[in-house]
Amino acid sequence: MPTSVWWVRRDLRLRDNPALAHAIAHGPGVVPVFILDERLLASRSAGARRNAFLLGGMAQLDRDLRARGSRLIVRRGLPEVELARLCAEVQATAIVAQQDCSPFAQRRDQAVMSALLPLVLVDGIAALPIGSVRKADGNPYTVFTPYSHRRQDLWQERIPAPLAAPQRIDTPAGLASCPLPDLLPDSSLNDFVPGEPEAWRRLRPFTNVDGAIHAYAEQRNRPDLNGTSQLSPYLRFGMLSAQEAVLAALAARDAAANEGQPDGATTWLNELIWRDFYIDVLHAFPHVIDAAFRSQYDAIAWHNDPDQFDAWTAGHTGYPFVDAAMRQLAATGWMHNRARMVVASFLVKDLLIDWRWGARWFMQQLIDGDPAANNGGWQWSAGTGTDAAPYFRIFNPVTQGAKFDPRGDYRRRWIPELRRVPDAAIHTPW
Ligand code: FAD
Repeated sequence: MPTSVWWVRRDLRLRDNPALAHAIAHGPGVVPVFILDERLLASRSAGARRNAFLLGGMAQLDRDLRARGSRLIVRRGLPEVELARLCAEVQATAIVAQQDCSPFAQRRDQAVMSALLPLVLVDGIAALPIGSVRKADGNPYTVFTPYSHRRQDLWQERIPAPLAAPQRIDTPAGLASCPLPDLLPDSSLNDFVPGEPEAWRRLRPFTNVDGAIHAYAEQRNRPDLNGTSQLSPYLRFGMLSAQEAVLAALAARDAAANEGQPDGATTWLNELIWRDFYIDVLHAFPHVIDAAFRSQYDAIAWHNDPDQFDAWTAGHTGYPFVDAAMRQLAATGWMHNRARMVVASFLVKDLLIDWRWGARWFMQQLIDGDPAANNGGWQWSAGTGTDAAPYFRIFNPVTQGAKFDPRGDYRRRWIPELRRVPDAAIHTPW
């Protein structure tokens, strides 16, 4: 039986998985493999909670595969070495993987190809293929608004119907697999149960007829309300395909129009376009991973005071909105988008600390920590990025709190010291 290897990386799902579908079409024997790579798991940008979420997602994928007669093989080491070994064991004639966008991922895949392994890269990380939306002159977009207009035109015509999860996957027996390490007790992931089934448990109610998506335009900036999908960790690891998220939002938009509901879905779709935009930016301009998109901003002489940085990470700056957000991050591994913008602005423009310090701290803490979105968010906040906010635009941490957490519920929730402060003083407790 011809056999292929499905190299799982950021596509821990069975539904709408082009790499898996390609592997089955090539097969029909398929060996799903995840290679634990120390260079990623122990890098300076790794986070214990994100690693635990990944491992939980692998365990769930393994359960889902077993229900289809297959299982997830886990190997540990360098991909080019482990894949060569596995291909020889099962006489695989193709390795199929979802294309990734980070410089590390591109170097890793190049090393696999240089070892003459038959690696086939397939779309699926973004809602539309990486690099497929270009300006009329063929260059990549570097400004979000025209990019998003072009994308909106392409949703309907280019998003194919989702691929069903396969009923059965034939995997050869007897292959060795490493046990998954236990990285953190499960309670640390209380807010985010890893895996594809949980992604759907979130997407469905969010996008259904009375889902929060319809109020998204009004509520998305309010960290005191549950107005966003909290799907970012699932999209980060491909437990949900970006295309299925788009299709659910398009359906919600049509349903809202029929019911005369407000159109929050279009605003939500725009956020998914931001996700794709930063994937395209990182892929086309890999230098942004550790340098300013606009190189003149690499010359900024930052203050970089380590004590102020520590106060920021600990949520002890004295600015309640900033501190609440940083404590939410420390406690849960997630932070609301409005809060991310405010704490990033505060670090870079009030404390004058290099945006890369903040970006690395976020990567170490966030369950959804993603090289493209995180880098894009930080460069946008710092004013060093693509169509960034100009360097002189500074979010005022006091008025942002008053506007987006008007009763102080978010601040009181995360800062116990403020729980008994009366409403009148909550914005400026000093
Ligand atoms: P929703 O509001 O429900 O949006 C739906 C999805 O769209 C999100 O799950 C996410 O995948 C995507 N999305 C939304 N906003 C953005 C955005 N501005 N840029 C890119 N994608 C977006 N997002 C990450 O996924 N990983 C990160 O590491 C990350 N770091 C960030 C750092 C900074 C400084 C800033 C300002 C933003 C960052 N974001 C990051 C973007 C955004 O804050 C999160 O995606 C969002 O808060 C996740 O919550 P949600 O799933 O409820 O989003």
